[in-house]
This record gives sequence, structure tokens and C-alpha cells, in this order.
Amino acid sequence: MSVSQNNELLGKTKEELRELCVSLGEPAYRGEQIYRALYAERKFDLEQVTNLPAALRERLSHGAGIRLPEVKKRFQSVDGAIRYLFELGPNEKDKTRAASVEAVFMPSEGRQTICASTQAGCAVNCQFCLTAQLGLIRNLSPGEILAQILIALEENKDTLVPHTNIVFMGQGEPLLNYDAVLTACRILQDPNGVGIPAKRVTISTSGIVPGIERLATESERPKLAISLNASNDAQRDALMPINRKYPLAALLGACRKYPLRSWEFLMFEYVMLGGINDTLADAKRVVKLLAGLKCKVNLIPWNPGDLPYRESSEEAIAEFQELLIDRGIVTFVRRSRGRDVMAACGQLALLNDTPIEKSSSNLITL
Ligand code: SAH
Ligand code: SF4
Repeated sequence: MSVSQNNELLGKTKEELRELCVSLGEPAYRGEQIYRALYAERKFDLEQVTNLPAALRERLSHGAGIRLPEVKKRFQSVDGAIRYLFELGPNEKDKTRAASVEAVFMPSEGRQTICASTQAGCAVNCQFCLTAQLGLIRNLSPGEILAQILIALEENKDTLVPHTNIVFMGQGEPLLNYDAVLTACRILQDPNGVGIPAKRVTISTSGIVPGIERLATESERPKLAISLNASNDAQRDALMPINRKYPLAALLGACRKYPLRSWEFLMFEYVMLGGINDTLADAKRVVKLLAGLKCKVNLIPWNPGDLPYRESSEEAIAEFQELLIDRGIVTFVRRSRGRDVMAACGQLALLNDTPIEKSSSNLITL
């Protein structure tokens, strides 16, 4: 039997690769060899997978292949971060069109962090975020999600340190592309796959309650971060229109029911917007909202873009942090990397590339 045209190997699970090999009349373990080669050894050319018989490689090469996104540009920040701009091809099988997407590689002492995208653009329309300007272009496939990470690792292989953290905080809302993100996460976490443990992988959500409830049922899942960003519903409605669909009571209700593992905390992110959500009254309300949750808070100084907001002052951030810590909530100030090359949180909007018109048809309907 021959392999069907357009059969992309990258993104396939171990089971799918086993089935593919069996359908070709080969033993299933050949599928596992391909799996290891792709994800653990980062071999992106079947010719390099020399433990496969030449005849199988030849047969696979007729229909199946590994089609990596093209790195269109690399933007190097003064702080060492690199923003990658990828061109994703159209996929005839899935009927998806070409798209551009971004990921950021951030080296630091003892670890590297890769911030990857889960969708091209985003439909959620948070008012302070430049990605929202793109609207949703399309969902990424598991292979397209993994490729960003594998390419960033491969390009920096000479300087990698032992620990890699993955954060799905690039373009897109991970829980609105649930299946593809979870498939990618399983391959990431598998010791025979990419081999990055669950403790080092974080999905960040704007608060898609059904997605949080579904994630709660998964036996293998990454850590969860929630973008809170406001201290009451009126404020959150204005900053994150998704709040009208999933208001704070529903969101925090889902968080309270979320089954945390012994080592796990829920992470709440809070973008500090000058004069909007950064007062001590806000901090007190946040303490009330989070009461009883096993959680930590990351305060994220707002990263500027061409949007009608301003940064909080250093004093406001310090006082906000102090109040939360005083009330027993572990709180960090997370300064984003790569601001100078538009690589920081909320700045991923394909800047320096062909701008894409935002249209109301690709925003979420509430
Ligand atoms: N869509 C997901 C993940 C991507 S956004 C989410 O919203 O959680 C990752 C983080 O960046 C979120 O916590 C978001 O609130 C934050 N963010 C968005 N725009 C920002 C900006 N301009 N400055 C700082 N953080 C921002
Ligand atoms: Fe989308 Fe997250 Fe940006 Fe909101 S903050 S628009 S959910 S990427």
C-alpha cells in the first residue's frame, strides 16, 4: 500500500505513526522510531532517520513528509531573546490557508523559556493586547505548534542548558484550539517525545471556562495560568470582552473546582495598566477574589504598543505587589523579555511584516 499524498508526519502521535507503518505493511515499532527521531532527536528529514530501512524511507517519501514552517525572520533583542517569525504553509488536507505566526526564545541562567503560539492571531479581543488587532486568522495544527518549539531548540542547540520551559503565551487562546494544543502537549511531555515534564509547560488562558473544566478532566496536562487582569466585572468587561461570556464568578468557580496536583499552583496573571487596574483598591479586590485558592500571582507590567493605555508606575506596581504579599499571596513582578523587538507579552502582532487587516468577522461573538 502506498502512503496518501500530503501526509504530514510532524504533529502525529505515537499511535498515529504506528498505524501508518502498519498500514504500509511494516511493524508498528517503526512508527515509534519515527516518533523518537522527530521529537526527541529533532531529525526533520527522513533521510537522516537511518535506523529505518531504506525501502521504508523511500516508500514514505512518496506521500508523507516533514514540512517545517519557514523561519522568515529572526529579531534579536538586546536582552538575548529572539523573536521568530514563521511562515506556515497552507494545508490542503485540513483546508487551511497560509499564515504567519511568532514564537520567542528566551535564554537565561540555568534554563531557556520558549513562548509559543497556539493560533495565528486571536479572536478574544482583549483591548490591551496587540495580537487582538489581528483577529483570528486560523488555528494551528499540533505539528505547527510543536514545530515552533523544535525549531527554536534546534537553532539554539549549541547553547542549550538543561531545563526548558514552554509557555503557551504567544499568539492565540490555547483553550479555543483545545485538541491541537493538548495533542502537542502530550508529545511535549512524553519522555520518548520532546521530553519536557508537565511542571515545565504552561498554558495561559483568558478564562475560557468550558476549556478549564475540560482540562480539569485530563490525566496528563500542563500547568494552567489564568489571565485575570482586572479586579471586578465592570473593569474586566471593558478590558476583556470575553468576561461578558464567562464572568469572574464563573471563572473563579471553575478555578476553585480545578483539581491541582500536590506540586501545583494556579498562576494568575495580572497586566498592570496605569490608572486602570493598578490601585490599592484593585489589589484588595484581587485578594478577595483569590481567597482560598492555592495560587500565585504574576504582575506583568504592560508592554506598550499602539494602543490607548499607559504603563503603571514602578511605585504602583511595588505597592500592589506588597499588598498581595502582605495578605499571603505569593506575587512576582514578571518583566517581559524582548520589548525592543516587539517580542514581549501582548506585542506579538507580526510587526515588521505585512500587516493583516482586522475585520469584525474574525472576532469572537459574544
Ligand atoms: N491568550 C492567552 C495567552 C496569550 S497572552 C491569554 O490571554 O492568557 C499571554 C499573556 O500576555 C496574558 O496574560 C495576557 O494578559 C498578557 N498580555 C497581553 N497583552 C499584554 C501587554 N501589552 N503587556 C503585557 N502583557 C500582556
Ligand atoms: Fe488573545 Fe491572550 Fe491577547 Fe487576549 S491577551 S487577545 S486572549 S492573545
